[in-house]
Amino acid sequence: MSKKYVYFFGCGKAEGTAEMKGLLGGKGANLAEMTNLKLPVPPGFTISTEVCTYYYAKRKKYPPELKRQVLEALKKVERIMGAKFGDEENPLLVSVRSGARASMPGMMDTILNLGLNEKTVDALIRQTGNARFAWDSYRRFVQMYGDVVMGLRPESKDEHDPFEVIIARKKAAYGIEHDLQLTAEHLQSLVGEFKSEIKKRTSKNFPDDPMEQLWGAIGAVFGSWNNPRAAAYRKLYDIPESWGTAVNVQAMVFGNLGDDSATGVAFTRDPATGENRFYGEFLVNAQGEDVVAGIRTPLPIEQLQEKMPEVYAQLLKIRSILDRHYRDMQDIEFTIQKGKLFMLQTRVAKRTGFAAFRIAIDMVEEGLISPKEALLRIEPEQLNQLLRPIFDTEEKKKAVSNGRLLAKGLNAGPGAASGKVVFNAEDAEEWVARGEKVILVRIETSPEDIRGMNAAEGILTARGGMTSHAALVARQMGKICVAGCTALDIDYRSRLMHVNGKAIREGDFLSIDGTTGEVLEGRVNTIPSEILQVLLDRTLAPERSRIYQQYEQMMSWADKYRRLGVRANADQPDQGQVAIAFGAEGIGLCRTEHMFFGRERIQAVREMILADTESDRRKALAKLLPMQREDFKGIFRVMGDRPVTIRTLDPPLHEFLPHEEREQAELAQTMGVSLEKVKQRVESLKEFNPMLGHRGCRLGIVFPEITEMQARAIFEAACEVKKEGIDVHPEVMIPLVGHVNELKQQEKIVRRVAEETMKEQGVEVRYLVGTMIEVPRAAITADEIATVAEFFSFGTNDLTQTTYGLSRDDAGRFLAYYYDHAILDKDPFQAIDRNGVGQLMKIGTEKGRSVKPRLKVGICGEHGGDPSSIEFCHSIGLDYVSCSPYRVAIARLAAARAALRESHRARPSAAVRPVKKARRRRPAKRRRR
Ligand code: PEP
Ligand code: MG
Repeated sequence: MSKKYVYFFGCGKAEGTAEMKGLLGGKGANLAEMTNLKLPVPPGFTISTEVCTYYYAKRKKYPPELKRQVLEALKKVERIMGAKFGDEENPLLVSVRSGARASMPGMMDTILNLGLNEKTVDALIRQTGNARFAWDSYRRFVQMYGDVVMGLRPESKDEHDPFEVIIARKKAAYGIEHDLQLTAEHLQSLVGEFKSEIKKRTSKNFPDDPMEQLWGAIGAVFGSWNNPRAAAYRKLYDIPESWGTAVNVQAMVFGNLGDDSATGVAFTRDPATGENRFYGEFLVNAQGEDVVAGIRTPLPIEQLQEKMPEVYAQLLKIRSILDRHYRDMQDIEFTIQKGKLFMLQTRVAKRTGFAAFRIAIDMVEEGLISPKEALLRIEPEQLNQLLRPIFDTEEKKKAVSNGRLLAKGLNAGPGAASGKVVFNAEDAEEWVARGEKVILVRIETSPEDIRGMNAAEGILTARGGMTSHAALVARQMGKICVAGCTALDIDYRSRLMHVNGKAIREGDFLSIDGTTGEVLEGRVNTIPSEILQVLLDRTLAPERSRIYQQYEQMMSWADKYRRLGVRANADQPDQGQVAIAFGAEGIGLCRTEHMFFGRERIQAVREMILADTESDRRKALAKLLPMQREDFKGIFRVMGDRPVTIRTLDPPLHEFLPHEEREQAELAQTMGVSLEKVKQRVESLKEFNPMLGHRGCRLGIVFPEITEMQARAIFEAACEVKKEGIDVHPEVMIPLVGHVNELKQQEKIVRRVAEETMKEQGVEVRYLVGTMIEVPRAAITADEIATVAEFFSFGTNDLTQTTYGLSRDDAGRFLAYYYDHAILDKDPFQAIDRNGVGQLMKIGTEKGRSVKPRLKVGICGEHGGDPSSIEFCHSIGLDYVSCSPYRVAIARLAAARAALRESHRARPSAAVRPVKKARRRRPAKRRRR
């Protein structure tokens, strides 16, 4: 039997289900599911993603059996619709749409009204008695096909869409303001003008044969999987190139048949705040792309109740069916054709971090999902949005009373952003690359703008509603966004906009409040988020902040399910305080060199470095000792009985010396030595590869008195704080160990000083001595190292550097080339390279525990705050991750999700409620008989 590539849906029966997203893409799978749910879905068929893979593997050829399968499915659609594709009396028109496994809003192509030509358009006029509608549909088709399949689109960032230019010309010639005022005759002549423009600029004739149109459109949709914006989007959201897109061919229904027709987009809940209310927008007498493209600002869905009460009631019912069936907020597209409702899409809706938290918690309370599922619904990074600053209310009030409130738009992406105005996405990227903060201001955004949107602090658009491209993408990116701010009059060419009588130029400061939709002139100061106001500043009572309560609820669930501990990388007491407020269970890395940089300390450090003899070095170190001791006491007091991992000195000594002659002269003067001597010392400490030079434990080995001083500071502080009644737990960590003997030597010093100090002070402190694993040799010989170490902590910054042989400080210069040319798909310094560095971590952990089965193993490289790396750490059995204090809560969430995903993989449960179980069982029974 030949392989199945085409899956039909229609008339209450579909060959696919929601579970088949891999094969049918999200859109196809959900059209099938809605059909099975008996919702009003126009019939159609999905060409599977396997065809996309085949198409690219076989140099843009299709599997031989595809043509027959498409024709058979088309026949079924014709039967249900009672119309024939290409028929000159009763033509069937179709839409051809992309649909990948993960939704990629607007990144790939869609063609509507396919099947129209000079003859079928006449038939459509006869059938509907509406010449304007028919010519409008044809005009739209030629425009879309001309762009997507034949490639007629703007060639530069400042150029307008060539089709829109022709429309604007027509409107100007007839003194027309709105598209809706264009008559059938205008539209008919537009079709002709479009076709000749296509011919002029592409040298190709616009095809009249519907079959040729269909295959052209299918090819273009598969082709669009690899267009630059889709590729950029995949990179941004880690969507594998190998997934491919499906193609959905579906009978057309028309929202532009008159005032009893409409089209709309809705969410089963509010995607900005998460509130449980129907939320959406529609346009009367329009087609779907008008809403999403943001060309006309649509009406709020409530107004549909007045205009078409029955359809509104039906839509409300469908809202509740879908919300409950999928047990998640859905984003739906619908069309009303002459008073009859049709569903064209449902998918899990993109939402802001605020909405994600609220919906997950509400759905647990509504009994739709469990706390475990709620955790799996939150992307840890979304928490960042809840922690982001908001505008200072007083400052904003002042700005408003000073007349700086320019306008108000839709609150499409919550949060506060200030930055310099730029008017196109490329400039946004460029300005940000040179260190500016920008607000990207566009009439409307389009998928080409994706990278600029990502770079900008915030996005402001003049047109489009809450479901416009800008709003949708901003929500997903967690960007601050005000959309549909109609008061803006933007002129791209002169890089200028007018707002209520004021002129704002490129480079001027603007502030936007994505929570209220306000646009303000100039800069407005921000204050911490509500969560920080409760947790850190204590200026807000927990019971007065709903957002804080949601955060707290989610965190308590996370703590119940996570197995990984979460610590923080903190060098100062205030950082420790932040870490604890976010739930850190200890310090996983205290970099002691950060304490060396303080004003009066750097002097003593430099004296130590410049010393010629051990005794001079000891004198300088003796000055540092009390300062370090005080630092450690501060940290121990804040951290209480939580473990505190303190690392001995790590960076190369030259980092502490001045490199400018002026500073060197100053140092020489204060130390009473010659400038020559300082210069010589700086010169002698220069290394070709300082990252692989005299640093890490190698410093303490060659200058044991440094380790001695640090150990003394740690244990004197620990003993003194213990005497204050705090049960401190210091863990001394030796960096950059590659050979067990290095650790042995350093461990001996630490233990000797610890014992001496405790004896002097007359207190016992329980402490550990361990090591960082940050060079490959340490991981490979971890069994030898574990004979000495009481704990390991993976320093994955250095481990990545040394495993790849890739300098941490220089890699940025060429890694971008690697991503652009698909040599690497991610930055290995951000997400753990599981197959390389990750394998060393696994080997290190296993070998270490082969010697000490209960060896405590953690991670303190930057990867400790990255959700996907945290999942990896969970999978190889680490005990804890350590990250920056502000990422601790994110790490707690990520750790819980890692644990839940692991058990989920072992025992998958249905994401959607099965469609009528009884009906599915029937075929099995028949077989038994
Ligand atoms: C590491 O290498 O991962 C680490 C935490 O140490 P540092 O970044 O200080 O070298
Ligand atoms: Mg390191």
